Parts: sequence; structure tokens; C-alpha cells
Amino acid sequence: MERAAPGVGGVPYADHVPPTTTAPRDAAHGVLRTVFGYDEFRGLQADVIDHVVAGGDAVVLMPTGGGKSLCYQIPALVREGTGIVVSPLIALMHDQVDALTTAGVRAGYLNSTQGYDERAAIERAYLAGELDLLYLAPERLLAPETLELLDRGSPALFAIDEAHCVSQWGHDFRPEYLRLSVLHERWPHVPRLALTATATAATHAEIRSRLALGDARDFVASFDRPNIRYRIVPKDNPRAQLLTLLREEHPGDAGIVYCLTRASVDETAAWLAAQGVDALPYHAGLDRSVRARNQARFAREDGVVMVATIAFGMGIDKPDVRFVAHLDLPKSIEGYYQETGRAGRDGLPATAWLAYGLADVVQQRRLIATSEGDDLHQRRLAQHLDAMLALCETVGCRRQRLLSYFGEESPPCGNCDTCLDPPSSYDGTVPAQKLLSTVVRLEQRGQRYGVGHVVDVLRGKTTERVRSSGHDELSTFGIGTDLSDGQWRTVVRQLVAGGLLGVEPLHSTLHLTPESAAVLRGEREVRLRDEPAGADHARRTKRTPRPAASADLLPEDAELFERLRAWRAGVAHEAGLPAYVVFHDATLRDVASRRPATLADLASIGGVGAAKLERYGAGVLGAVAGAPDPAP
Ligand code: ADP
Ligand code: ZN
Repeated sequence: MERAAPGVGGVPYADHVPPTTTAPRDAAHGVLRTVFGYDEFRGLQADVIDHVVAGGDAVVLMPTGGGKSLCYQIPALVREGTGIVVSPLIALMHDQVDALTTAGVRAGYLNSTQGYDERAAIERAYLAGELDLLYLAPERLLAPETLELLDRGSPALFAIDEAHCVSQWGHDFRPEYLRLSVLHERWPHVPRLALTATATAATHAEIRSRLALGDARDFVASFDRPNIRYRIVPKDNPRAQLLTLLREEHPGDAGIVYCLTRASVDETAAWLAAQGVDALPYHAGLDRSVRARNQARFAREDGVVMVATIAFGMGIDKPDVRFVAHLDLPKSIEGYYQETGRAGRDGLPATAWLAYGLADVVQQRRLIATSEGDDLHQRRLAQHLDAMLALCETVGCRRQRLLSYFGEESPPCGNCDTCLDPPSSYDGTVPAQKLLSTVVRLEQRGQRYGVGHVVDVLRGKTTERVRSSGHDELSTFGIGTDLSDGQWRTVVRQLVAGGLLGVEPLHSTLHLTPESAAVLRGEREVRLRDEPAGADHARRTKRTPRPAASADLLPEDAELFERLRAWRAGVAHEAGLPAYVVFHDATLRDVASRRPATLADLASIGGVGAAKLERYGAGVLGAVAGAPDPAP
């Protein structure tokens, strides 16, 4: 879509709230209220904002959805001059600038998608001091002509978003980020903020050193995302399981489904679409225009399900992603946390769901074994995978484990599958010994087999292969009839995940590991997780399926919420804006339950700032007035 410069056919400058001359904290609070329509700062926002408004540098580590944007947007509005925002993804600048201009902020961007005239208009606005925020990709910022342009105007601050892109170890590495220390050399007195949702100490240190942020103050928030319910289920028939999740818990909700390969993205998206789900594929192998179109539909419309590889997601600001589902095992907890963090930025209930099975472990081990890089690199990958597996197999609180991985202590959360439905564990030493003994006996004969055959031997099945190989004569033949095939497979999976049994990555054959011996000698107890068939379904309630955002509203209010969403879809479509830019779901929910009758009532609802009140207030009140009265 062609975009107009601010004030040129877009949002008029008159909407802008001029900088105030009161004390900085009051000024910041005033902007929070009038521009963004929120009453209170969250967490560390007020501290960061005070520090930056006063001219200090800051490194801000907050989880996705923690509210990083306001940490630089408000100082940019309070300080003289223009806040310069470095953002790695050009495709997302449009939406960020749309959201700001809709709130009445004078924002623009400069990038290669613009024509000459549009660019020139933004440059003029910047030089005239008529821009509060200017978004730039790093390569654009570093171009000599841009640096000169910035010199001729007055930068209020530099915000380096997605600052973990400086890390050469991460998969988001962007070489241009390494050169951003030039900002400090060139404008030593302009405050800088580096912001990221990547929490590891190593990345943190890299950000500080590579961006020359030696004097910056650190602001490290809790990484907890309390509204996300974490669930990890045994993989059985993954597509059917996924469809059940979508139909019964997230009908009509927007969500992301992550798959490991491009092929599985294409197949899963097509299959979901055939089942009537509004699903679209996204991966690096698709045509650029198809990718852009799918991404735009996901961002702009309600209820689109994006099936994607992990190439999708960074910088996606969509606040109402109600679920993130993984059909394949993530490589690391960092990756998993970053991906699941895209759910529920608006603070409303959201689901992180992962289906996981033995084949995933084998597949990931195979990827590591065949990956490029030296031993050290492969060992590091294996450690990451092991931590992820431990999360999958834990009988304790998932959140507690996730947070402890990032160095945070916390009590059991009450909002994950293991808290809600504590799995029982049992002493699995004897089954483990039976299994390992079978593998030993095969190894003694110089043979290795996959899980299917080993389980056949344990269960005493005289298959063709058992007979021809004489394995019905093994002393362990038939000693495992007390467990079903499925139960044996979960035993195998748990032993493999815990390193007590090895899987040869290329042929999926089982073998002993150095840790197996202690189990066989009876020196080590093995606790296993009890997995009743259909564990995933245990919590399913009988209520009528409803989108998660309105699930806990009264039925009449839920109906009004849907009406408001329909009104929003029309308004957004007409203005060419993403729906959430008009109002977030959280705002519409409050409207639905509080039913404001006047503009003043409406203004007191979170997310309704002055500009939106003026533009959309009458429309919202009309939708509320037209709704049937709630039952007394
Ligand atoms: P991040 O960039 O850290 O992922 P965002 O800046 O996108 O997070 O903010 C996440 C969501 O929280 C947004 O929908 C934003 O409007 C909302 N939000 C941020 N700060 C506040 C606040 N103080 N009060 C209410 N909502 C807020
Ligand atoms: Zn928990």
C-alpha cells in the first residue's frame, strides 16, 4: 500500500499533543494518559523513562509484551527533537508508524519502499522539527547521507530495538548492528537505549560491549508472562490434536503454528485450510510477495492462523495473537520462549502449546549430528536441546523451569499444564532396566534396532523379524507384557530425553549411554511421568467454544465484544489499518463489559487516548447503544 507522509493526507498534525513544561515524571504520565490512553506505567517503564528523559543511556531487557515501546516513545515525546528508532525489519515499520499516527503521534520512517517524494516529505518534516519519532533500518541509518541528515536536525534519543541482533551467536544476527556504536561517537550527548526480549547473560554482555553502552544503566524486568498458559503434550496424531486445540479452545482466534520445515509448513497450512481454518503459510522459500501478503493479512485481519517456520515472528507487534503452537520440538529454550512470547502481548489469556514425541528427539539429534561446526559447537547445541527436553519431561511447574533457565526464581505458577493437572510420576526403574537389558543383549550380539523392534521383543511378539533373528530366545523376550506399545514408547522417549538411552541419529537405533550402566546395576532410580492416554484432553471443559479473548465474559458481553470487533474490522479495512491499531482486544473487552454511555466514560477505558476518542468515540458508543441490554 502506498503510504502518505504524516500530515499529508494521513493524520493531521493538529492531533499532536505538544510537549509540556511540567516536571518530567508528570509530563511522561500526561503523555501516557492523553496519547496512549493508559493510566499507569507498567513494571520498569517509569524508571526507564525518567532515566532517558534525563539524558541517560539504558539497556532494557523485558519480555515480549512487556511494554518496551513506550520506554522510548514517551521520552521521544517529552524531550525536544525527534526520537530515532533503529528497527531491523522494514516490513514492520509501516504498522508501527500506523499505530503511532493513529494515536496522534507525529511519526514516520525512511526506507527503500518509499518513493522520492514521500522520502523528501519525511526529511523535511524531520528538519523542521515536526517529527516525534523517525524509524530507520540500521543500514539506512548508517548511510553517510542519513547521518548528515540527522546532524542537520535534532535527535532526541536513539532507540536500538531488537538489540540482540548484535549477537553473532543468535539466529537474528545482523552485521550492521555492529556498526551502531557510531551513534555514540557522533552524538555523545544524545541518550541511547538498547532494547531486547532476549534474556541470556551472554547476549546482555554483548549488547553492552558492542554498542559501546559502558555507562548505560541496566533495566532488567522479570521475564514472566503470566497470561500465557504453557502446555506440552505427548504427540499422538499432531494435526488432529492441533485441530482440536483450534476448534475447542481458539475458534476464530489469531495464532501462529510453528513447524520445522518448509514442506511441513505448506502441508499443514493446506490441511488446516481444508478443515475450514483461515490458515496461511510463511517461510523463506515462498515468493517475497506471497510472504508479504500473508504477513499483512495476519497482522491486519482478525483470526488468521499463520503456519510458519521460525523465519516468521521477529518484530511482529500484533498484540492479540491468542496461541502459539509448536508441531515440532524447538532447538532451545531461548527459541521456544521467544516464539511462545509472541502470544498474548495484550495481557489477555493466551496459550503456548507444544506437541512432542520421540521422533522429535531423534530428528533434533540428527540435525545436530549433521550440522556444520566443530565439536564445541555441536556440544553447545546438544546442551540447548537437553535443556529443552528437560522442560518437556518435567513433572514440575513449566514456568518455574523456564524462568529458572533465565536465572529467575519463582513459585509454581498455577497456569501451566503441570500445575493445573499435576502428572503423577512413578518409580520406573524396573521398566527402564527391562528395556536397557534388552538393548544390552542386542548389543552383545553386535546388533542395534529401533524402538519398534525392541518393544516387540519386550512384549513377546513373534513377528517375522523376531523369529528370523532368533530374538524370541533372548532372556528378555516377553518380560514387558505389563505395558502397552504406547506406554513402552513413552518410557523410551523419557529415557532418551534424560540421556539414559541413546538414539543413533541417522538410523534411529537404540544404544546404551555411559549413564545406562548405573540404572542396570540398580544404583540409580528412574522416575517416570505417568501419561494416561489422552492426557491433553483431561482439562477440556464442556463450555461452548469461544474465542479466548472473550471466553470469560458474560454471554451478552461476549456478544457485544463480537459486535465491536465487527465494527472495528470495518473501520480498519476502510482506513487500511491493522485492526489492532484501531483498538486492542483488551480495550474492546472493557468496553463490552463496562458499556460506556458517554465519551467521558469511554475515555476512562485503557487504550483510549485523545486522538482515538475523537476519531472513533462516536462509533464505539453507537455500537454499545445498539446492543441489546445485558440481562439484569
Ligand atoms: P514489547 O515491545 O515489549 O513486546 P509492547 O511495547 O508492544 O511490548 O507492549 C505490549 C502491549 O502492552 C502493547 O499492546 C501496549 O499497548 C501495552 N502496554 C504497554 N505499556 C502499557 C501500560 N503502561 N498500560 C497498559 N498497556 C500497556
Ligand atoms: Zn506452573
